[in-house]
Amino acid sequence: MRAPNCISEVHDECANGTGRRTVYLTFDDGPNPVCTPDVLDLLAENEVSATFFVIGAYAADHPKLIQRMIAEGHRVGNHTMTHPDLSGCRPAQIHYEILEANRVIRIACSQASVAHMRAPYGNWTEQVLTHCGRAGLIPVHWSIDPHDWSRPGVDAIVDTVVASVRPGAMVLLHDGSPPNEFRPDTQAGLRDQTLTALSRLIPELHERGFAIRSLPTQLNEVESHEPA
Ligand SMILES: [Zn+2]
Repeated sequence: MRAPNCISEVHDECANGTGRRTVYLTFDDGPNPVCTPDVLDLLAENEVSATFFVIGAYAADHPKLIQRMIAEGHRVGNHTMTHPDLSGCRPAQIHYEILEANRVIRIACSQASVAHMRAPYGNWTEQVLTHCGRAGLIPVHWSIDPHDWSRPGVDAIVDTVVASVRPGAMVLLHDGSPPNEFRPDTQAGLRDQTLTALSRLIPELHERGFAIRSLPTQLNEVESHEPA
């Protein structure tokens, strides 16, 4: 099957009127009551905004974190209700996972306008893209994946991003872990490496002349790519 198109980089940097090179930090699998506040603190200290692809079930449990994201100028995207691999789901289930996440995000924060979706595991199929489009959401993949969820070490996370960053890049990071992967008896779900890497990445990206912004909502500012 042909790999379906979704957005993995943002192009036409002049479209935002600033002429500055931009990189987009995205955080998946939250909100998490331990990690997300630290990530938000760090973003606030550095006066940068990001995009959070939240899991609906977590948004329902932690509405104050969704409210804080919006109040502090970040964008909240849809990462489904319970984080299943949608490529193995029936149409009715895909429909529910997407629309229910949108619904609970809006209940958590009425000011949240959800414009983007990221499929769990980046598993896009034509059917998932169809349901995403019907929900009025832009399908968003990524262009840089430092595998921060696997805890490869802070240096590895920073180095991977810095080595491949370019204008319009979308960086995949994690501020939580999915319900089906959460193992409280191990360190696997901890995001301390992500946080430390972020504290080094933001100044490093600024030094290289990049602005860090949340994702634009206009499809015409965005160019489609096939995911790797
Ligand atoms: Zn995820």
